[in-house]
Amino acid sequence: MQGRGLGRHRRGGSKWRLPRATGAAWRARARASPDSATYRRPSNTTGHTHAVAGAAAGALAALALHLPAGVLPLALAVAAAAALLPDIDERGSTVNRRLPILGPLLAHTLHHRTVTHSLFALAVLPALCHLLFPAVPWRWLEVGEAGYASHLLCDALTPAGIDLFWPWPGRLRIGGWVRTGGWAEHVLFLPAFTALAVWGVGRVLGVGRLL
Ligand SMILES: [Zn+2]
Repeated sequence: MQGRGLGRHRRGGSKWRLPRATGAAWRARARASPDSATYRRPSNTTGHTHAVAGAAAGALAALALHLPAGVLPLALAVAAAAALLPDIDERGSTVNRRLPILGPLLAHTLHHRTVTHSLFALAVLPALCHLLFPAVPWRWLEVGEAGYASHLLCDALTPAGIDLFWPWPGRLRIGGWVRTGGWAEHVLFLPAFTALAVWGVGRVLGVGRLL
């Protein structure tokens, strides 16, 4: 559901031959998809939906992990940032634009919505972060994991779906009708994620039983 469309899949061979779940079949489906306009003309949608969904996931993670209210803003920020991370493989995405060297390199190397949108990434990234930053407590990695997972869920609702089981062939599409930047994203899901974030924050802060 994030920025710059559902993916601008190159038809040439400029990218490395990484294991690809659907390859030509997916590109054909993308062209035939009702959402195919997104492929031809990337939308101007920013990562705000993913950020809000990530914040909601962060609030829920803070609630589940019994994090103190004092660190709640950090939990929201970590999860929201993690929720933007999967689209690092997409040129022009929010996170890709902020990483001058790594962003363009990954956008050139990886196919969008494949390895970075998979269970493989969900499993490997926390371990990698733990190796690089052993002082970071696991609970914070779990908060980031929740934000990252929220991104995969959002993208799985779109017509293009994600390669959740990369490198295994097959594309996951839970809903498949939520177009990037479409009415459902802005009218249904963005308000729903916002409400969920508010509810989670309220529960962590212990604001009233009505929440
Ligand atoms: Zn994505």
